[in-house]
Amino acid sequence: MNAPREAFAHHLLDALNAQADEFIAVRRDIHRHPEMGYKEYRTSDLVAEQLEKFGYTVTRGLGGTGVVGQLQRGQGSKTLGLRADMDALPIDEATGLPYASCNAGIMHACGHDGHTAMLLAAAKHIAAKVQFSGTLNLIFQPAEEGLGGAKKMMEDGLFKQFPCDAVFAMHNMPGHPQGHLVLRDGPMMASSDNVTITIEGTGGHGAIPHRAADPVVAGSAIVMGLQSIVARNVDPQETAVITVGAFNAGVANNVIPQRATLRLSVRALNREVRELLEKRITELAHAQAQSYGVQAHVDYKRGYPVLVNNLAETDFARSVAEELVGAGRVTRQGRALTGSEDFAFFLEEVPGCYLLIGNGDGSGDGHGACMVHNPGYDFNDNNVAVGSAYWSLLVERFLKD
Ligand SMILES: [Zn+2]
Ligand SMILES: [Zn+2]
Repeated sequence: MNAPREAFAHHLLDALNAQADEFIAVRRDIHRHPEMGYKEYRTSDLVAEQLEKFGYTVTRGLGGTGVVGQLQRGQGSKTLGLRADMDALPIDEATGLPYASCNAGIMHACGHDGHTAMLLAAAKHIAAKVQFSGTLNLIFQPAEEGLGGAKKMMEDGLFKQFPCDAVFAMHNMPGHPQGHLVLRDGPMMASSDNVTITIEGTGGHGAIPHRAADPVVAGSAIVMGLQSIVARNVDPQETAVITVGAFNAGVANNVIPQRATLRLSVRALNREVRELLEKRITELAHAQAQSYGVQAHVDYKRGYPVLVNNLAETDFARSVAEELVGAGRVTRQGRALTGSEDFAFFLEEVPGCYLLIGNGDGSGDGHGACMVHNPGYDFNDNNVAVGSAYWSLLVERFLKD
């Protein structure tokens, strides 16, 4: 790293620190008024209003409540997309904070309030101070939590209307020191599929099993058989999870039920492993059912894909991160996570990089170390400056003249 660049990064952090209070207030305002996926009406109004104030061309309605702010400068032909998510979770907040949720049963427990505020803070700074040439698209998506808002925006023509050479996203993560940046080449978050296996047997008297076809015994064999897929079919160096989270059958001890239902969560960190899991789960359920004289119906619902960071864009993001906070605060290859993230849909169409920003570790850091999706969680406001500085520097470096 050369000296002028280091000096620039410090200057940038100072500038974003100087305006941080304004966006910490925005973050807490969004936190107080959390909204569920596709219902981010107030939040998207706030985002659109701010972007317009900073001079962006604002487009609304993609993915329902999605917002895109566009800024074009110079003659450059490069295009860049930065994403923040806006939705909250169905959790009763237990932080006791003065800006705690005033919407009962809804809470910003994943820090999307912070992601939105960081990108808005960057939007202001970039419009006022950053020299670039090209097109910048700031993408505020709805419904990241399980409802696939990213995909919905794409179906509504996001990348046709706003072509992007590359897309980037950032998510806070408790357990990493505040402001540290964590990257990873290739697969970073898992695919997540939901499977329902319905086993149709023949009900009967519990005392006369030979006149029935018992879906409970067949279902039990399927549950045990499924474990052999991870143990015996998946490459030991790959990651796979098959969790049977629900097994429902029967109501009485002397009645063999007609039907049993299994509900599975299936995850993988590799697209080929995901294909293999779907194939083997389907085959095994049918074959086991047949061997017990019952029938299995497999409803395999694909959720979020594997999130795969592209090498060139991740290298680029890594250089921006190191220039900004120094190599000592950047984890170059973090661990992949078995959680999932719908930014993965963007990365199936456009190359890019998703990174983590540490929300705080240890116990002396307020709510920063509390895990996301916990009622005690809170986004670390110290990240507003460093997160928005990362976005600003990334734009300056990517869309350079
Ligand atoms: Zn979440
Ligand atoms: Zn999240």
